Amino acid sequence: MNCYLVTLGCPKNEVDSEMMAELLAEAGHRFVERPDDADILIVNTCGFIHDAREESYDTLKELARGKLPHQALVAAGCLAQRDCDGLCRRVPQVDAVIGTRSWSEIVSVVEGLNQQRRGVRRAVRDQGDLVASVRRHAHTGQTAYVKIADGCDAGCAFCAIPLIKGPQASKPPEAILREATELLAQGVRELVLIAQDTTAYGRDLGMADGLPALLRRLAEIAPEESWLRILYAYPQHISDDLIATMAALPQVCHYLDLPLQHGHPAVLRRMRRPHDLAMIHDRIGALRAAMPDIALRSTFIVGFPGETEQEFDALLALLEEIEFDHVGVFSYSRERGTPAAEMPGQVPQSVAARRHEEAMLTQQEISLRRNREQIGRELPALIEGVGEGLTVARSYRDAPEIDGMILIEGEHAAPGFVRVRITRAQPYDLVGEIVEPSEPA
Ligand code: SF4
Repeated sequence: MNCYLVTLGCPKNEVDSEMMAELLAEAGHRFVERPDDADILIVNTCGFIHDAREESYDTLKELARGKLPHQALVAAGCLAQRDCDGLCRRVPQVDAVIGTRSWSEIVSVVEGLNQQRRGVRRAVRDQGDLVASVRRHAHTGQTAYVKIADGCDAGCAFCAIPLIKGPQASKPPEAILREATELLAQGVRELVLIAQDTTAYGRDLGMADGLPALLRRLAEIAPEESWLRILYAYPQHISDDLIATMAALPQVCHYLDLPLQHGHPAVLRRMRRPHDLAMIHDRIGALRAAMPDIALRSTFIVGFPGETEQEFDALLALLEEIEFDHVGVFSYSRERGTPAAEMPGQVPQSVAARRHEEAMLTQQEISLRRNREQIGRELPALIEGVGEGLTVARSYRDAPEIDGMILIEGEHAAPGFVRVRITRAQPYDLVGEIVEPSEPA
């Protein structure tokens, strides 16, 4: 059968889509570029916050409107897991629903639809097949996401992820190593490790501090001229062993994404997040002491229930104090079923929007300052694409899809690593020139 697959949401969803695509391809199904050419339309939805849900509904409805009589529409992913009934009500043309932990059933669902196109089959289950050893193609070219765990035990007051995905379930190291070996053999140069909290990796498997041990094992199979990148760290789980391991292994990017969510201890307490700012400063200090060139990313929420002007000012002050290289700012989204949704003092949207803009503008100046410090440096960078007289590359300082780029004049088509001298800085991107094709130091 011909399948048309749309992926919405975060890199974790992309990994699930790649797995589903791989399973379907192995079962002899093909992928097409246009919905009209498909027998099966699949949307891997995102249900994280309101805007993401609406985008998922819009995509499903658009495909439902153009659905041809022989076609079936499948909703997979977070939104399908979180609100199967609501989804079927809002988009009644959906023929099958697959939750986040049952993507491995995609082939039987798709083939079942071929047999019987009526009724809605539901495959939302609590337990999934995280260990499934399926070959993955490097759909993202030189970069591939590797999901090392799914689900979360943290219970942040604003977050619906634990409701959608349940508690953390880590992939056994052997399964991750197998997947990484296959990806590297396919020519992938950068493995991006993801989970809801990568630094909690292995706790459910009985490991006290599983991530450094996993990095050491990955470094045994990854060539020195490759990158291992860690996203979504939880501040208080950043152990001394993790920092030492990141500093010691040449493959591990001196880069860490550690979402802090706020800069005032009272808001952090209400968020049910780590609120000991001294501990946060200590961990960031330790990271910078061990890796002076480390690039740090964080995310923050403005407009959390009860956030006062004084608390918001503390967030701005924290941004100035820590000087992250990259920051994402989100306006609080009231998520049904979460403790924060019932909290008093919900902040008007207009106030949250103003704070969002102010935080973004504050960070823009900081990011520009940090980027200017790069001028004159020579950095290894992965070529990401060429066109219109430009080459786009990315250094260890930038995670794919979320951070900035290095823009280089001229079209240098060869993929792989080059060495780039940074000549100019912008708030988000850098401008550079290729010094020589190279492998990363
Ligand atoms: S750690 Fe992340 S995924 Fe887990 S509950 Fe908190 S915000 Fe949600």
